[in-house]
Amino acid sequence: MSTSVQTSTRIYLSPPHLGDAERTFVAEAFDSNWIAPLGPNVDGFERDLQVYTGAAHAAALSSGTAALHLALILLGVKTGDEVVCSSFTFSASANPILYEGATPVFVDSEADTWNIDPGALSDALEDRQKKGKLPKAVIAVHLYGMPAKMVEIMDICGHYGVPLIEDAAEALGSTYHGKAMGTFGALGILSFNGNKIITTSGGGALISDDADWIQKSRFLATQARDPAPHYQHSQVGYNYRLSNVSAGIGRGQMQVLDDRVAARRANTERYSAFLAPYEGVTFQAEPDGMFSNRWLSTILVDPGRTGGVTREDLRLALDADNIEARPLWKPLHLQPIFAAYPYYGDGLSERLFDRGLCLPSGSNLSDEEFSRVTRVLKGVLEGRG
Ligand SMILES: *Cc1c(COP(=O)(O)O)cnc(C)c1O
Repeated sequence: MSTSVQTSTRIYLSPPHLGDAERTFVAEAFDSNWIAPLGPNVDGFERDLQVYTGAAHAAALSSGTAALHLALILLGVKTGDEVVCSSFTFSASANPILYEGATPVFVDSEADTWNIDPGALSDALEDRQKKGKLPKAVIAVHLYGMPAKMVEIMDICGHYGVPLIEDAAEALGSTYHGKAMGTFGALGILSFNGNKIITTSGGGALISDDADWIQKSRFLATQARDPAPHYQHSQVGYNYRLSNVSAGIGRGQMQVLDDRVAARRANTERYSAFLAPYEGVTFQAEPDGMFSNRWLSTILVDPGRTGGVTREDLRLALDADNIEARPLWKPLHLQPIFAAYPYYGDGLSERLFDRGLCLPSGSNLSDEEFSRVTRVLKGVLEGRG
């Protein structure tokens, strides 16, 4: 980028999209000097999350990663334990396993949802049990907003008695048979990072029907202070709470969440309508009973059927026009930091990584920007790229 002169403004993959009310909630925090630490916006945001997801309890935290870390601590994950995690995901899904000194066990994806494959999960649990001990938890991710196959996954976790954590960082607004993602497992985590479907500029949440766990998570997230007039500690604490200012942004964003979901879904629809005539470019269908927020619009590009055009050809052409697109997540079992850990699967996630591309997916992607993106795609796919 540094050597070429860019005349067009950059189109981002998933930029923030604020509504009208965020400023009002943040201004309230300023006017009442409730800048820190907790306060009415945090309480209000947690209530909004409970109402929206149907979870009985929610704790607003500093990030989705922090939420996942606390979830593992609540389930008693310690040094030497194993935790199963979907391989096809962002590194933040698995990093907290390492924070606790535990061992990640990676499981491949299945083709319908690209999420953890129930068959491979079952193999993994059976094999880990045979090798000596069961993992302490399973982390299932709802990637790009698409729900994982929860009925099968919960059956398997139930059969082995291993608690399920849902990483719903990308799936706020997604449902499976009408039930919100993050509310199926023992604990669910959400993210409000700047690139997610709604943002608090940075933040996350832990949700659960278990009041004790959420109460404990708030205790751990505020330095684990025992009740005493002085600072008294009998456990390791963390500084993981969301600020009252950030939570104000979150309250405003919750008012427009359904609009954001509708806009993201409309993006997937207009891309798929536009790309339908092009052989070898395919979209992930929404399986029966599943409702995806379509956080990112993703395509698979099969060079055997596109006349040789690869996803990288498309990505580079978009980049040359100052448009951000990105390959699908690189499977964690291929990442240098995770490569040494056990992995169960037949490589589907590797093939998705080779062929997949995320297109600009902002809920504020204008018609003009959409035309710019599709002009470039058309040029490459029709051999004029
Ligand atoms: C964003 C994300 C996270 C981490 O959330 P942060 O709020 O950025 O810490 C975890 N898992 C997945 C799948 C994510 O996309």
